[in-house]
Amino acid sequence: MLKEKGILFDVTLCVGCGACSQACKETNNLEQTNKDFLKDHLSDNTFTVVEQYGELFTRKLCMHCNEPACVSVCLVGAITKSPTGSVVYDADKCIGCRYCMQACPHHIPRYEWATTQPRIRKCNLCTDRVKDGQLPACAEACPTEATLFGDMDQLIAIAKKRLKDSPEKYYQHIYGLEEAGGGHVLVLSPVPFEQLGYISKLPKESMPEFTMRAMEKIPSVVVGGGVFLTGMYWLTKRKNQIAKDEKNNNK
Ligand code: SF4
Ligand code: SF4
Ligand code: SF4
Repeated sequence: MLKEKGILFDVTLCVGCGACSQACKETNNLEQTNKDFLKDHLSDNTFTVVEQYGELFTRKLCMHCNEPACVSVCLVGAITKSPTGSVVYDADKCIGCRYCMQACPHHIPRYEWATTQPRIRKCNLCTDRVKDGQLPACAEACPTEATLFGDMDQLIAIAKKRLKDSPEKYYQHIYGLEEAGGGHVLVLSPVPFEQLGYISKLPKESMPEFTMRAMEKIPSVVVGGGVFLTGMYWLTKRKNQIAKDEKNNNK
């Protein structure tokens, strides 16, 4: 059986050199979008960013969720979960509805607005490189092992050991282990995660599971109107967020 793979990113080890984001661009043939990589935003040409918060640097990329909301809303199966846990996209199947962008609890997928045959764009955990026995480009390029790739069980054990061995160094939480059902990108930090721009109040259940559970508690007579209104609120909120993100990307 194939082992589940993922990334452990440790903020305390990151020196903010940008080798990871540069390597991602090179391996995925993405355009340079900003001379200063610290000013980059996730976009159709940027699958990962390095962000600075005071003296700390952190990375943002797809979290490769265990039960991805993007997969569950895709009507045509254009986004799927691979046997090693990465969440991958097939442009040939995509109909461009962009439900995945609206469903993602981490606000990750981006859209190629400027092309005639637009695709959804995001990190695919370098699935092809990994199949060939290589490391993801970002993990290979990282000089300090702040970005570490490996088997999920080993990464979780390493993360737990670091928290236990150095409590003075780490905020005692592994971000990504349980948020929205958990995923294949784990983050360690010396400060609470909301201080590094992470969405910290996500439910522990996966988004598909969370929605199903909420639905079960609603009397069927109010489901129609309630779901409609909740859906409209969620879609409007996400559309506004996406519009804001796209505006930032174009700055
Ligand atoms: S972070 Fe978003 S895009 Fe990535 S797998 Fe999870 S739901 Fe899908
Ligand atoms: S795993 Fe690959 S696609 Fe994802 S951020 Fe790293 S280099 Fe980019
Ligand atoms: S390559 Fe490693 S040290 Fe450099 S910015 Fe990326 S994660 Fe941080």
